Amino acid sequence: MGPVEALERIAFLLERVQEPTYRVKAFRTAAAVVGALPEDDVRRRAANGSLTELKGLGPKTARVVEEAVGGAVPGYLARLEEEAGGPLTEGGEALRAALRGDCHLHSDWSDGGSPIDEMARTARALGHEWAVLTDHSPRLTIARGLSPERLRAQLDVVAEVNEELGDGFRLLTGIECDILADGSLDQEAELLERLDVVVASVHSKLRMDAESMTRRMVSAVASPLVDVLGHCTGRLSAGKKRPESEFDAAMVFAACARFGTAVEINSRPERLDPPRRLVRQALEAGVLFAVDSDAHAPGQLDWQVYGCARAEECGVPAERIVTTWTAGRLLEWTRPK
Ligand SMILES: [Zn+2]
Ligand SMILES: [Zn+2]
Repeated sequence: MGPVEALERIAFLLERVQEPTYRVKAFRTAAAVVGALPEDDVRRRAANGSLTELKGLGPKTARVVEEAVGGAVPGYLARLEEEAGGPLTEGGEALRAALRGDCHLHSDWSDGGSPIDEMARTARALGHEWAVLTDHSPRLTIARGLSPERLRAQLDVVAEVNEELGDGFRLLTGIECDILADGSLDQEAELLERLDVVVASVHSKLRMDAESMTRRMVSAVASPLVDVLGHCTGRLSAGKKRPESEFDAAMVFAACARFGTAVEINSRPERLDPPRRLVRQALEAGVLFAVDSDAHAPGQLDWQVYGCARAEECGVPAERIVTTWTAGRLLEWTRPK
């Protein structure tokens, strides 16, 4: 294992077990600095102890590089593999093994922490055949939502990433599009139509009355441009807590079933949205599901197992989950209906 790989693996494991960003950042920064240097330079500095002279490397990260250059598994990494490399949860393994992709993840183009190619490479390393890049839409300014121009530019970057990655994995284009208060979508229709996958989510005015919220969600999921309804209740059960939005779930899920829009099972530990009773209700209503990571960092891509555990618990069959499908089948389904 090379020094960059070791540093990236450490960052991945820390993110996976929800360590705070500042702890992870040192390793991601060090990986970028070391990765940009010629190999002999890294070796020379590791030998003469001058790695810490580099901006972005401290004693801890320099030690990891020195040990990796020396051909050993760095001690810090070995300890972390023990502590943070085991199963994240009980259950969900069988369904996780059946997944081929992930419909919801963010890059540093919006509020994610890592570049597009790193998210894609990590999704591939986790065994996926495809993943959808879904950065935020313009109105979500707090999350640096993408203007139409930036989203157009991102499409070119995704094409380049796919060229670099070659066969065996495909990064699909997409968006997490805000569902505006009136139920309309926060991006140009022409652009939404071009994207492979559109996840639509409510991020604002989460406390509106149930009737308005129901109308808002139904108009969004009925749109032929929308493929997945993201984290439908908006609840947060950890950190800054937030109750579920109020809406007529029977009506929203009936619309999802009728218009072929999948209901997301969001795997983020603080979301785990929808709650079990609504997953069961959606299942009864005959909807499709997408088990998504909603990852904002590479290590969070591994959180899908939480959503898998929930889906298994609620008896959702694998064939009803679009993230178990091949990219070909997925794209056939998302093509404007
Ligand atoms: Zn969201
Ligand atoms: Zn998201």
